[in-house]
Amino acid sequence: MPEIKFSEVMRKRQTLSFEVFPPKTEKGFQNLQTVFDHLKEYRPEYISVTYGAGGSNIGANRKVCSMIRGEGITPMTHFSVVRNRSGAIKEQLNNYLSDGIDHVLALRGDLPNGEKTTLGDFQYASQLVEFIRSTYGDRFEIAVAGMPEGHVENDSMQSDIGYLKLKQDMGAEYAVTQLFYDNAKFIRFVMKARQMGITIPILPGLKPFAKLSQLTVIPRTFHCDLPQELASEVVKCKTDEDARCLGIEWATEQCRQLHAAGFGNIHFYTVSAVDSVCEIIRRL
Ligand code: FAD
Repeated sequence: MPEIKFSEVMRKRQTLSFEVFPPKTEKGFQNLQTVFDHLKEYRPEYISVTYGAGGSNIGANRKVCSMIRGEGITPMTHFSVVRNRSGAIKEQLNNYLSDGIDHVLALRGDLPNGEKTTLGDFQYASQLVEFIRSTYGDRFEIAVAGMPEGHVENDSMQSDIGYLKLKQDMGAEYAVTQLFYDNAKFIRFVMKARQMGITIPILPGLKPFAKLSQLTVIPRTFHCDLPQELASEVVKCKTDEDARCLGIEWATEQCRQLHAAGFGNIHFYTVSAVDSVCEIIRRL
């Protein structure tokens, strides 16, 4: 069993966690070291590391997890079933355990371009959760994804939340949400989840806009709506600096409102926004 259970910590006190992306180059690894030097100042509960389909970045992912451990911070790895067979999944999970990594975000992953299946042995994250629990008992703490604005492949919020419940029933211990800019949607999602019997902590995932192009790319890529108040500020942005300032102000306000509504745990997506995330935490 993991030494620390984030799901338990989150029920007791405020937590902060970050997501990073494994670099592709040696220079990228050097930059990441600087990122950790900044992030560790804020004593995050954990830092999570994204995972490429079929383990395409598994070497870099494990190296980043080890770097995080080297900083005295607990790493959490993401893991997806896309293009992954159960034998390979087991081998990779065994490797994580032998590296001392026992926190995992169990995901389906995005379907490969033009495909209707994962091209792997499992089709849904709930099956991965079930597989991890039946193979490893409680040796991993398992988190799963939650979609406050619904998942793009499912028109029914009710059934999407039903599948989140299934992930809980299979053994997931907390959920981390997709990024969002509209707190009202997140709060509605959590209320609905609670009504449907979901009791695990649901950690809001936030990403401040850090440059001009992200003002359009992020909402389109992650299928999230901007509330009117934010949308009317977005159209006024003309430079990267405008977007960065708006990103910091909006996410700071989101954190304040979430805290006031009883959500003391925050997960930041830090990719290309580390400075902004640090500024937000300083302001808070
Ligand atoms: P699932 O929970 O399996 O849901 C996928 C779809 O299937 C949904 O539409 C759901 O409603 C539907 N569904 C679920 N179960 C069933 C069922 N039994 N029958 C019918 N329909 C069902 N992707 C990566 O590749 N690497 C990453 O590192 C990564 N990190 C992420 C981190 C976070 C915090 C989040 C929120 C997402 C991340 N993603 C990552 C993206 C994620 O993999 C995609 O959003 C993916 O499309 C859905 O993954 P899921 O785990 O929510 O899938």
